[in-house]
Amino acid sequence: MHPTPRLTAAISAVTLAARATLAVRLGEVAINTHIKGDKSPVTVADFAAQAVCVITLQKLLSEPLRMLGEEDASALRENADLRAAVLAAAQISLGDPTLTEAQVIAAVEAGQTETGAGGYWTLDPIDGTKGFLRGGQYAVCLAWIEKGEVALGVLGCPAMALEGDPVGVSPVGSYYAAVKGQGAWGWSAGQTLAQARRMTLPAWTPARGVCVAESVEAEHSAHGEQAQVMAALGVPVSSVRLDSQCKYAVVASGRADAYLRFPTDPNTPRRECIWDHASGVLLVDEAGGETSDAKGAKLDFNCGKRLEKNFGIVACAKGLKAKLVK
Ligand code: AMP
Ligand code: MG
Repeated sequence: MHPTPRLTAAISAVTLAARATLAVRLGEVAINTHIKGDKSPVTVADFAAQAVCVITLQKLLSEPLRMLGEEDASALRENADLRAAVLAAAQISLGDPTLTEAQVIAAVEAGQTETGAGGYWTLDPIDGTKGFLRGGQYAVCLAWIEKGEVALGVLGCPAMALEGDPVGVSPVGSYYAAVKGQGAWGWSAGQTLAQARRMTLPAWTPARGVCVAESVEAEHSAHGEQAQVMAALGVPVSSVRLDSQCKYAVVASGRADAYLRFPTDPNTPRRECIWDHASGVLLVDEAGGETSDAKGAKLDFNCGKRLEKNFGIVACAKGLKAKLVK
């Protein structure tokens, strides 16, 4: 992997943002959950991770920050307790006790400055917030999008091991990076990039049966339809349920054969947010797997915040996509 400034900065940003989430998870600052307008939860850790990620990218890169991140700062402006806790988590992660609330708010806001055009970051500071709150899996997801394509993706899975059981919480997390046309790598927390392992997925064969990675939350994808599609393959089926883009890492590392995410309401399907998929899609593609929407169409990252032209998600080992889509 050629360590370009953007790649190196993205890995530092995700690693430090993950440290902020762990500070919250390990109780160094209180979890203060806030419910957003769309009824989804957001925690101290979501805001702290976005602020830390932005501050790190701004520090390490000379270019102005262009980012379409998930969180906005309105709750931080309104809630002093939330603001104080976010500042504490960011200070711990960055090792900077001089960081101020104003800098944290400015950083969160700088994470929502982008609208499209000339290359930009997309960030989900904590993907799988429900998993994070449940004590399960979650991910810090940062990707660089250029001309509607994901060019670089970094995924931090602070509670998931690099190998073996992906569901049980591991004290040593795992990190992944992919660069378009160059490949995908994974490493354990605490390792350097030089120790990262190239990820290469063998093609799927029916002899190995099929293991599908799916959401834990029943409202996020149609478990019943997904089970029907797997059953139609006519091979032994198993399922692994975990939150967040960790599912992409599970597929890219060969611990599941496919990640399926079918909309629960096919008539008015929810369009997926780009920050929920950009890093993971590139990881699976660059590991030698295949990705598309559930109808087989290429995922189109050129429509703003959401994959407006796509219907659900399929990510899998090579040779399986055509069968699943059919
Ligand atoms: P997962 O951890 O795979 O269940 O996905 C978490 C993501 O699901 C969150 O980041 C949300 O953006 C997204 N989400 C929230 N509501 C829905 C929904 N009704 N259908 C699909 N995805 C959703
Ligand atoms: Mg998310």
